[in-house]
Amino acid sequence: MKLIMLGPPGVGKGTQAQKLCKEFDMKQISTGDILREAVKNKTPLGEEANSYMTLGKLVPDSVMLGLVENTLFNDNAPTSYILDGFPRTVPQAEGLTKLFKEHNDEIDIILLFEADSSMIVERLSARRTCKDCKTVYNLISMPPKTEGVCDHCNGELYQRDDDKKETIQNRLKIYTKQTEPLVDYYSTTGKVKRVEAAGSPNEVYQLTRKQIVK
Ligand code: AMP
Repeated sequence: MKLIMLGPPGVGKGTQAQKLCKEFDMKQISTGDILREAVKNKTPLGEEANSYMTLGKLVPDSVMLGLVENTLFNDNAPTSYILDGFPRTVPQAEGLTKLFKEHNDEIDIILLFEADSSMIVERLSARRTCKDCKTVYNLISMPPKTEGVCDHCNGELYQRDDDKKETIQNRLKIYTKQTEPLVDYYSTTGKVKRVEAAGSPNEVYQLTRKQIVK
């Protein structure tokens, strides 16, 4: 099964992807995680992406398409996965459609997570991420058992630079302008399934599952 997750930053895509991957044995492919790792390791990709990311801007489409092509279409590529954070622009979606056509393959489901923007700002400000295993916490709705420490791997929790208040508004504006048009782009495929994402992670997960397991 191949899934795309769409929805504004902070709506819970990463959390839901982690839960789905666990239950359905899929691989989560988060372009944000791949880029953050590249930045941390100071690779050429990371050097290029860093300036965009700290401002909450999108990394150029050509860079992203190259990255995704290398990740999805090689001999060791996963066969069952969730794309989390890609595509994020119409040119990225068009490029992805072309890649799938060339490889005689297709996406099965596009999950669209929806929530209002005040809730999203609140969630992003309270988000903390494990430096090591990338598990996502929320200080209000899903806090770690010990402050600052990951429940799963004891890794250190941190606040992403782009989860700070100044950058959040910018990311939301970019989402509305550049990513929301993807809902129209994919609407004719009949594969878009909407999930109301206002509830707790477990409540949202039940709604998410229902869209997948019919
Ligand atoms: P995320 O973890 O998905 O919120 O992504 C964090 C940051 O990585 C974004 O704000 C962008 O700067 C960059 N990024 C991740 N995915 C993409 C993408 N598909 N296109 C452009 N930039 C991306």
